Amino acid sequence: MDAPSPKTADFDDLRAKLTALLGEKGVVGDAEALAPFLKEQRGRYAGQAPFMIRPASTDEVSQAVVLCAEAGVPMVPQGGNTGLVAGAVPFAADGAVLINLGRMARVRVLDPTDYSITVEAGCVLQDVQAAAEAVDRLFPLSLGAEGSCQIGGNLSTNAGGIHVLRYGNARDLVLGLEVVLADGRIWDGLTALRKDNTGYDLKHLFVGAEGTLGIITAATLKLFPRPRETAVAFVAIPTPEAAIDLLARTRAASGDRVTAFELIPRIGLDFALRRVAGIEDPLAEPHDWYVLMELAAGQSDGGLAGVLEDLLADAHEASLVIDAALAANERQAAAFWRIREGLVEGQKFEGGSIKHDVSVPVSRVPVFLERALTLVREMVPGIRPVAFGHLGDGNIHFNLSQPEDADREAYLARWDEVNHAVHSLVVELGGSISAEHGIGYMKVAENAHFKAPLEIDMMRSVKAALDPQNLMNPGKVIAL
Ligand SMILES: Cc1cc2nc3c(=O)[nH]c(=O)nc-3n(C[C@H](O)[C@H](O)[C@H](O)COP(=O)(O)OP(=O)(O)OC[C@H]3O[C@@H](n4cnc5c(N)ncnc54)[C@H](O)[C@@H]3O)c2cc1C
Repeated sequence: MDAPSPKTADFDDLRAKLTALLGEKGVVGDAEALAPFLKEQRGRYAGQAPFMIRPASTDEVSQAVVLCAEAGVPMVPQGGNTGLVAGAVPFAADGAVLINLGRMARVRVLDPTDYSITVEAGCVLQDVQAAAEAVDRLFPLSLGAEGSCQIGGNLSTNAGGIHVLRYGNARDLVLGLEVVLADGRIWDGLTALRKDNTGYDLKHLFVGAEGTLGIITAATLKLFPRPRETAVAFVAIPTPEAAIDLLARTRAASGDRVTAFELIPRIGLDFALRRVAGIEDPLAEPHDWYVLMELAAGQSDGGLAGVLEDLLADAHEASLVIDAALAANERQAAAFWRIREGLVEGQKFEGGSIKHDVSVPVSRVPVFLERALTLVREMVPGIRPVAFGHLGDGNIHFNLSQPEDADREAYLARWDEVNHAVHSLVVELGGSISAEHGIGYMKVAENAHFKAPLEIDMMRSVKAALDPQNLMNPGKVIAL
């Protein structure tokens, strides 16, 4: 699996050929224009590329891939560049061309009867949601970066977000894909079929592959009926254990109409209250833990708020709920959701933060939190953990703000050590070291450490079969 050395590749010649193919608009080499596309979200690594191309059609992607492959030059596909594991930028040693899909943003087919939509990879998630809404349908994938992340990136990272509990993650929302393979061939796997058992389900190889197996150029996605009624509550709970009971009760009492169940710690709310404009505490007294829950129903018979109110009253009787605020209208519901979004924003002002995106079986979240909080407090006295996230999926963003008086760089220098300790606990509890952000470059070594050798072997076999020259996003997901 030797890739031709990128050092010997003639970038000038390749650039001239790609400019002839894509036009001046399709090739960006100016350092200033390129800079934002080489910056990864967390700022931990510096990206570098000789230039970026911006193809406008599947044929252009295909022909560009052929030219790069002939020159032995690796390629890094990029969507909205909102990924959190340094997957969408090339690094100096890669000598790779950046392929940004942003110009491929057309809705090709919108079919409310089949409950499906076919979009190009560069469609921004929010635009796909809006296109579905325009025909009275729902595309349920929803996450904080939805105003800039793109469908190609969402599928390539198998994105999760706030509605996984009810609708599944990106993998569950895809019916078909169009992919440009590493040698430039176009696989037209676009279909709106709900059933097709004709052998290996190839689309799932590319979902979550983070651009290491080919470039997704279009996708057919599932749509759903739009909810007619939602009910949102901000609920103070005595302990995370109580939240697990509350989730089970809520699922049962609502006929499994829970669409979101998010854990929020007091410290996260405090950071947001301090730093983010427009955030208010919905409850009179402070509490250690909260859940933000949302129910949604297909009919607008007005019953959902009553269901929520009754079940919260019962849960209060059972000491599972200390206090709760029910959103009386959409504005109030949005204000509750603003708290959830403000957790990330607020933490940015609190110095360095060591991040984890982990999952454990839902029932083990409380034991994970108890042990992980003790662990990191012992490792770094004064550390300020903000453990929040998609509790209904067992997915906790275990993000650790530095001690107030610590030196930021010295604290962040302990990132790998702290990650490893937390990940070891996660694996001991039967969990995953990456619940929804993927592996990218950031977690390659950790993944290799924790994943079974046979699984890494199988992944290498798939990679070798689809990208024998190791030209697609080399160095990401698995080391060869
Ligand atoms: C504020 C914020 C909130 C977030 N919340 C969530 C969340 O709740 N849940 C969640 O899962 N993630 C979340 N993320 C992470 C990120 O938004 C998702 O991973 C998103 O799916 C990435 O999409 P993107 O278009 O930005 O992809 P990029 O960052 O551009 O790329 C991500 C990976 O996919 C590859 N790729 C991109 N496009 C293609 C393509 N067309 N073909 C093949 N490979 C491709 C890249 O090479 C890279 O490896 C959040 C990020 C931010 C900044």
